[in-house]
Amino acid sequence: MNHTDPFRELVESYALGALDPEERASLEEHLAGGCADCAQALEESRWLVSQLAYLAPEAEPSGMLRGRLIETVRFEAARDEVPRPRPKAVPLWMWGAVAAAVLFALYNARESRELSRIIGENQKSIAQKNEELKELQQELAALVRQERILADPESVRIAMRAERKDLPALEARWHRTLGIVVTGRKLPLPQNSRTLQLWLIPKAHGAKPMPSLTLRPDSEGRFALLVENPPDSPGATRALAITEEPEGGSPQPTSAPIWVGAIAAK
Ligand SMILES: [Zn+2]
Repeated sequence: MNHTDPFRELVESYALGALDPEERASLEEHLAGGCADCAQALEESRWLVSQLAYLAPEAEPSGMLRGRLIETVRFEAARDEVPRPRPKAVPLWMWGAVAAAVLFALYNARESRELSRIIGENQKSIAQKNEELKELQQELAALVRQERILADPESVRIAMRAERKDLPALEARWHRTLGIVVTGRKLPLPQNSRTLQLWLIPKAHGAKPMPSLTLRPDSEGRFALLVENPPDSPGATRALAITEEPEGGSPQPTSAPIWVGAIAAK
């Protein structure tokens, strides 16, 4: 840095528009004379001033900008150590204040981005937990309903006999308002993706079986099927039947019933 050039120290103030008209005119004359040192310093100062002007909290923190700013502040401080009259120069405290404001903004921008990221992740995790909680609540509600149907002596008890000797019998309970529960144990898993489907066989002569829900036993052969809204009432139904159907169930049975349970007239 050329400290013998008296114009050099005016450049930052010039870039900030802080020179008086006489100083400005003399510096401009000096620059017009082609001083490369001052021209480069002016270019850097203008760049720095433009960066300060455009700095927003969203701005990417730039190590280069921060470095230049600190360098400038240090440079100003170093010049202050040499006592010489600089009546119109930008005071050090102002550079310090600007630097502090810039660094604070950069820090805040980084902090708020980090905070946004953390909040975003937490919201995602909370939404996921809420979804899991909702599923658990639904499962719990279904279990409670199932237990009430099984425990209520008013529920119609339906023994479902297996058509094949190698299969266990099932049991169904039909509650007037809460629905049907069919339970079983030690069932073989249906082949491939086939599924078991419950049917309501109406009392009305010639009426077709009414399709209900499908189920697959768990890996230990247990199942409990809850039908909250059966398509008909126990009084209008002759029997419950279960067939094996393709995945997703069928609108009408495609195979002979494996289990059938007649509903006793009450
Ligand atoms: Zn110069």
